[in-house]
Amino acid sequence: RESLIESIKETIKEKHVELLHVQFVDIEGTLKNVTVTSDQIDQVVEGKTMFDGSSITGFTPINQSDLYLDPDLTSFAVLPWTEQDGYSEARFLCSVKKPDGSDFEGDPRNVLKKTVERAKDHGYSISVGPELEFFLFETDEHGQPTMRTQDVGGYFETSPKDYGEKVRLEIYKALKMMGFTIEASHHEVAIGQHEINFKYSDALGSADAATTYKWVVKTVAQQFGYHATFMPKPLSGENGSGMHTNISLFDIEKQENAFYDESDKLGLSETAYQFIAGLMGNVKDFVAVTNPLVNSYKRLVPGYEAPCYIAWSASNRSALIRIPATRGAGTRVEIRCPDPSANPYFAFAVVASAGLDGVERKLDVAPSTDADIFSMSQEEIEARGIENLPTSLEAAVERFANGEIGPKTLGEHAFGEYVALKRAECDDYRLAVTDWEVATYQAKF
Ligand code: GLN
Ligand code: MG
Ligand code: MG
Ligand code: MG
Repeated sequence: RESLIESIKETIKEKHVELLHVQFVDIEGTLKNVTVTSDQIDQVVEGKTMFDGSSITGFTPINQSDLYLDPDLTSFAVLPWTEQDGYSEARFLCSVKKPDGSDFEGDPRNVLKKTVERAKDHGYSISVGPELEFFLFETDEHGQPTMRTQDVGGYFETSPKDYGEKVRLEIYKALKMMGFTIEASHHEVAIGQHEINFKYSDALGSADAATTYKWVVKTVAQQFGYHATFMPKPLSGENGSGMHTNISLFDIEKQENAFYDESDKLGLSETAYQFIAGLMGNVKDFVAVTNPLVNSYKRLVPGYEAPCYIAWSASNRSALIRIPATRGAGTRVEIRCPDPSANPYFAFAVVASAGLDGVERKLDVAPSTDADIFSMSQEEIEARGIENLPTSLEAAVERFANGEIGPKTLGEHAFGEYVALKRAECDDYRLAVTDWEVATYQAKF
């Protein structure tokens, strides 16, 4: 730790870091920060940065509002877009502590750490590789986002039709300088839609990376006059944006992927099948977390490569859970319902928790569905016993509120706050009169 602090101080000197952004996330996964001068570095690393928890969504009541930021020293990064001659800024990502020095249970990082501990008690670490898609829209003369995109690109489009290529290049450079290992970048299926992939990591590292990625994508896009959005379904009739979550368990003692078994016909271990069964059995109770917005459910409809049926397959992209072809150390399951508006800490926590539940209870997995579900008739879907994911936030929140996985994974505090927040969002939406209603009903009735 001391040597890490020394090297951080050296970087501060070398790169002329003047400002430090001390960051954390609220229960929606929104990045927050307080900015201090780099003279305060000792205070910061000692966890003495205080803030008002009552002003943060889902944190504390006003009479217990003092909270402290405990930086993860490995998250220290100079922000490439702030670098000029003799000037730069840096950031730390933090966990949240109470005045008595104990962990604040409502902090999403602390929530995820609990599930990581639970896996560890079984001898596993959790590997997560998320894939976050986003749209680039033009901004107007006031810098406000519009719904315009000149981009005419589609899946794997090349320049010059891919207007986002230059932006993606700069995002790539910024992420790389901040310590990311970037693996790929491409234009996605929809107009104006993109994806940049970074290397998988442990669950907490990947949630930190997803949080940082969203911030960097938005920041760099803005410099090009674009607004980057992680809203799940910005354009009806086009693909939405997913956050496919690749996940596996790693056996700490044997030092090997716990999902791989070469003797099995699909190359999957008993643990992998149980984990899949846990995901399938619990998914209805956790989509309120992985798909947190009213808008999320407009993505989960047939025909846009997003799942709406609870099924798994070794190949099929219409299934909720796909097993990518890689075996050996890369053996993993890909759950395709999460979208990038989710709080990544909560999302990875509930997904891992659901899978672990299957392992703990040694659940049997349903047969896989390798045919295209989107082209099946309703009768065939029912005959195969394939169920639907919840079709609205309201339905999802009620499942979550009454299920076991929520309180077990988020803890009482964050669970209660999250349910209240999402119920209020549903109410708000219920009261809104939408453009669709006016267009459909006003003239007709
Ligand atoms: N955009 C699709 C989704 O909503 C995924 C498309 C893809 O990555 N093949 O999940
Ligand atoms: Mg992808
Ligand atoms: Mg994709
Ligand atoms: Mg994928």
